[in-house]
Amino acid sequence: MTPIQALQKYFGYSEFRHQQAAIIQHVLDNKDVLALMPTGGGKSLCYQLPAVLLDGLTIVISPLIALMKDQVDALNVNGIPAAFLNSAQNPDEQSRLMGRLKNNEIKLLYLAPERLFGSENKLVEFLKSLPVSLIAIDEAHCISHWGHDFRPEYLMLAGLKDYFPNIPVIALTATADKLTQKDILEKLNLKNPAIFISSFNRENITYTVSPKRDSFNQLLDFLEERKDESGIIYCLSRKSTESLAANLKEEGFSAEAYHAGLDNITKARNQEAFLRDDVKIIVATIAFGMGINKSNVRYVVHMDMPKNIEGYYQETGRAGRDGLASDAILFYSPGDAMKLKGFAMVDDNPEQSKIMLKKLDDMVRYCQLQTCRRQFLLKYFDEESPETCGSCDVCLTEFKRFDGTLIAQKALSAVYRLKERFGSTYVIDFLRGSKSEKIREEHKQLKTYGVGADISKPDWQRYLRELTTMGYLQVDGGEYPVLKLTTQSEAVLKGSQTVEFIESEIVEEKHSFAELPFEAELLNELKSVRRDIAINENVPAYVIQSDATLMEIATYLPQSLDELRMISGFGDIKLARYGREFLVPVKSFCERKGLNSKIAQKKQKRERKPRAEKPNETRKETLNLYQSGKSILEIAQLRKLSPMTIEGHLTYFVQTGEIDVSNFVSREKLLVIQDAVEGYGDEKLSPLKEILGDNYSYTEIKATISWMKGQMQSS
Ligand code: ADP
Ligand code: ZN
Repeated sequence: MTPIQALQKYFGYSEFRHQQAAIIQHVLDNKDVLALMPTGGGKSLCYQLPAVLLDGLTIVISPLIALMKDQVDALNVNGIPAAFLNSAQNPDEQSRLMGRLKNNEIKLLYLAPERLFGSENKLVEFLKSLPVSLIAIDEAHCISHWGHDFRPEYLMLAGLKDYFPNIPVIALTATADKLTQKDILEKLNLKNPAIFISSFNRENITYTVSPKRDSFNQLLDFLEERKDESGIIYCLSRKSTESLAANLKEEGFSAEAYHAGLDNITKARNQEAFLRDDVKIIVATIAFGMGINKSNVRYVVHMDMPKNIEGYYQETGRAGRDGLASDAILFYSPGDAMKLKGFAMVDDNPEQSKIMLKKLDDMVRYCQLQTCRRQFLLKYFDEESPETCGSCDVCLTEFKRFDGTLIAQKALSAVYRLKERFGSTYVIDFLRGSKSEKIREEHKQLKTYGVGADISKPDWQRYLRELTTMGYLQVDGGEYPVLKLTTQSEAVLKGSQTVEFIESEIVEEKHSFAELPFEAELLNELKSVRRDIAINENVPAYVIQSDATLMEIATYLPQSLDELRMISGFGDIKLARYGREFLVPVKSFCERKGLNSKIAQKKQKRERKPRAEKPNETRKETLNLYQSGKSILEIAQLRKLSPMTIEGHLTYFVQTGEIDVSNFVSREKLLVIQDAVEGYGDEKLSPLKEILGDNYSYTEIKATISWMKGQMQSS
């Protein structure tokens, strides 16, 4: 059997991803390999497929028991005999397993490094007596002090090559800078290893950074549209994971907390519930996630800024392993950076502290970017990429820019006149000519005092932030950070350098996977078939089939086993075991609705790529329904979206002029709201609502804002 035939037969996929084919070939040729692939890239297949093709046993070293159980379940479901060894198994179970190993009945054996070399190397001696054909080391960066997740027990693996000198070793990891790479090769003693570095780009993840203001409400807005989907929310502290989980529950979401301080039973229960989709949201510290290969995580949220890009990228990488469109959202506040600075210092190690502070600094730069975030991330991992990606918040936002040289000059000369000794709040009050006693008398005599009175506080904050990002100002840390000039400031002050600011932003709506042209009703039925099978087999649902596969079925409506074979994710065993069960709801659905198979439209079995949806189609659909006389609530129900989303769609058309604003708000109210918006800005709705009171609804406010934007554009 060739590798590609085995891929189809055992895994139901028709093509290799990234460098899987080359990696597998090397392994089959008996060569040592180091493979670097992003989280979700498909590392497991690189040793699972050779394991199937090679005679004898493949030993898989992996750090976490949770991961092993899952992988073993998934392999068994695909008809590949696999097992794991852990300390929870009783002597009976263990000796039965040994028997099966001796009889050559197992293709893959998963275990933790400390098991292998524990109790006087008994196990490794036993394994040496078996026909071992391959050793795979997952999460290989754990062996290095330089990695971000060093595990001392991994150091035991240095002895592997002594026991198995002629057996090929494949080491795999999702994060490894040059230093870690070198360390892995050395510590594992790999022989002439081939190193494969795949692209770290995760095309299906949309990256967004949002200012940490009112972040709980922002989060609710975000979750509201994803009620049925799984996600991970990361917090910095244990306490905040618990309080956030509690708050989300209060809002009706299915959420549980996870952190290292919980007792083992609670941890295991919450993790298991999440894996089985019984709980949709896990609110966790970074203690959660390694080894979680749940494929249908649709979003990862960071409530606080992570300490470095490596960690951030690995955490966000847990979204969308199934290849479907997924989101990574981070709430950023400059205050977080200050907080983390303390943590970044490593006691008595100025050299390492410096590295950590630099990493933190890179993380801050990422948050403040006004250029493509994906490009920045890939560059961080030494990878070239286009200027824009079209799927990060920066690329999805249209910026209007204007000449802000004069504003910049006012700001910079204020900093200069105040002798670079004050923070942004003081500088802004000074610029705006505040009468407050906090402003020193001598400063009130300066010429620059009050020259920026025409600009609101929030705008000044934004401008100062942008000037800092552009390098014309710098924030000098310490307990009371102050604004200082930079070497570039002079050119602006002299007028030889112009400065542009961003005026307004129109955020295009992101495609959400709820809008793919699949049969939603059928998808639900398929999910319930999957749930039944999963319960029967006692494994998490996604081990049976991924969401991506079910969506393909609900899209192409296969009518026979032969047609089902064309769906990505159905290998021979799964087809034989579960094919019929999945066909039942498809057939009856098609009969009820008078639909036929669309499998012919799926020319070739391909790995499913997230479809790039035109951003406005979903709005148009809402508009059509609205124009046919349906109410917001009715449309929301029909489209399975929240009324808030529908409102968002419709108010967009108020801005374009396709819907008259009078449909949403009366003339009198419009004027009052307009007044409030002009006074307080339109950045946040809730303060406006508070000012206007109960008589004014969010719909009315939103409609007015859209109308005002429309007016501005046409004038
Ligand atoms: P990693 O260990 O690199 O984080 P996994 O090995 O868990 O990633 O793979 C992620 C997902 O991609 C899994 O659901 C896996 O079945 C799927 N996958 C792997 N290789 C392929 C392929 N060639 N075609 C389609 N899906 C694949
Ligand atoms: Zn981008």
